[in-house]
Amino acid sequence: MTTETTPDMTGNESGAGPKDFIRVKIEEDNASGKYGKRVHTRFPPEPNGYLHIGHAKSICLNFGVAREYGGTCNLRFDDTNPVKEDVEYVESIKNDVRWLGFSWEGHELYASDYFGKLYEFAETLIRNGKAFVDSQSAEEIHATRGTLTEPGKNSPYRDRSEAENLDLFNRMKAGEFPDGAHVLRAKIDMASPNVMMRDPVLYRIRHAHHHRTGDTWCIYPMYDFAHCLSDSIEGITHSLCTLEFENNRELYNWLLAAVGVPTPRPEQTEFARLNVTHMVLSKRKLIQLVREGHVAGWDDPRMPTLSGLRRKGYPPEAIRDFCNRVGVARAAGTVVEYSLLEFCVRERLNAICSRVMAVLDPVKIVIENYPEDRVEWFDMPYFPKEGGGTPEGHAGPESRKVPFGRELYIEREDFLEDAPKKFFRLAPGKEVRLRYAYYVTCTGVVKNAAGEITEIRCTYDPATKGGDSPDGRKVKGTLHWVAASHALPVETRLYEHLFGASEADIPEGGTFLDGINPDSLRVVTAMAEPAVADVKAGDRVQFERLGYFRADEDSAPGKPVFNRTATLKDSWAKEAKKE
Ligand code: ATP
Ligand code: MG
Repeated sequence: MTTETTPDMTGNESGAGPKDFIRVKIEEDNASGKYGKRVHTRFPPEPNGYLHIGHAKSICLNFGVAREYGGTCNLRFDDTNPVKEDVEYVESIKNDVRWLGFSWEGHELYASDYFGKLYEFAETLIRNGKAFVDSQSAEEIHATRGTLTEPGKNSPYRDRSEAENLDLFNRMKAGEFPDGAHVLRAKIDMASPNVMMRDPVLYRIRHAHHHRTGDTWCIYPMYDFAHCLSDSIEGITHSLCTLEFENNRELYNWLLAAVGVPTPRPEQTEFARLNVTHMVLSKRKLIQLVREGHVAGWDDPRMPTLSGLRRKGYPPEAIRDFCNRVGVARAAGTVVEYSLLEFCVRERLNAICSRVMAVLDPVKIVIENYPEDRVEWFDMPYFPKEGGGTPEGHAGPESRKVPFGRELYIEREDFLEDAPKKFFRLAPGKEVRLRYAYYVTCTGVVKNAAGEITEIRCTYDPATKGGDSPDGRKVKGTLHWVAASHALPVETRLYEHLFGASEADIPEGGTFLDGINPDSLRVVTAMAEPAVADVKAGDRVQFERLGYFRADEDSAPGKPVFNRTATLKDSWAKEAKKE
């Protein structure tokens, strides 16, 4: 069996190919000496949900460029909103980043650690005449913002004196006012064509408990204020974020200048978000899926979360490979095909997974001329030659013993009573190879009263032991099988996409929940060869011809539970061609 891989901390996997625009910019900055060749990035998740594959793109980019240019990447929790955040999310995020193969060497940071400094920056702004306390309601502020074509209106409180502003801001902090009574706003330009620059709110009153600062604060900074200043406090050089923050860049730069951050200042650069077919990547929607029980939890293998993909069996190397293949683009990209992700997963798993046999939908075959009490044990390689053989550095046995007997299970779909010409599996009168064992020929079937096949009768040719015919007789089909006497029943979870390819698949007038695929999880009891009994959670195998599987955390000793990670694409076509 193959154990869950440990993160590989070495690789610069994106070295090949043309440089993306972010790496080009970093190299320009290094060449001009802007930051003295320093490259310092950060990955800034808000701990209000679990990380998903979109975050992986940002992680691979931020940690990746830091690694490539000898720099540093901070893991910074952007925890400025006390209402939605939780330590459970903090722990899961750390775990997922580590699992993806990145480390932050003590640079685990929290925006909330800067609340004191941020407060001082706000006072500096007030003293510089660049911020004021507004006592309008949220509705009034919203209503006077103007539109894309019309300027907004100045607040009647805009010209408060410095002393009055400092006093009010201090009393906001001291808890003298209820939520919503006042806000601190930047004093910029209510006529700016960029709506973000129309006296944006910097602080609001929120009498709420924070998961790290407790009840110390009752005013909390807004994202735009906290983010650029956190970048500056940490000495970030390249602040990489997704395109929806493009309009925030002007404010980012304005705030750093307004509080007097010396140059060179951190610079924000935007890149396109990752979107993948069949995947919903909005945190709000993912939270809803979990809270309303549409999935079993954040780590349900149908979720696009890193914990879900991990549990499904996706290796971290495959996710990094996928992110590198998708690349980084400046403009909003197209939606990436899920099949590219599966391709990366298969490519990785094909190299590392041992192969064993199990039958997902068993039907019994009885070999009439095989002695009743006889059991033969065949030695079978975990890594057959046609799969590339045993991988380098593989520890543990290279083969195992598999029992064969008179009664076996094969896959129900591997038999057809009225088989078309091109059906190379078992059918009355036809001969097939049982993998590594014998050639068998079907002599007939037994049916129950409902007309279903309960037993397939066969004869075997003892001269074909090992699965080869001494007289050079060819068979077109090779079937996997499991001896009935030694078969281990295993719970096996088979997955399909949780959603259709795109929102367009949602029925007219429905919400995204109406797009949920009711068949996204199918649980079957497979029959597996006895060697499978020893797997531990996290172990991976290929069930020959059926796909890649990972032993789930729900496994118990001797009672494995498997998640199908991916099917084997085109395995049939290939096998038919080989013969
Ligand atoms: P929210 O709506 O809660 O802000 P978010 O997806 O932006 O959701 P964050 O925790 O703020 O979540 O994201 C952390 C970082 O990951 C941000 O820099 C964000 O730009 C980036 N990120 C989030 N989603 C994607 C995505 N689909 N593709 C690339 N980067 C992403
Ligand atoms: Mg965000």
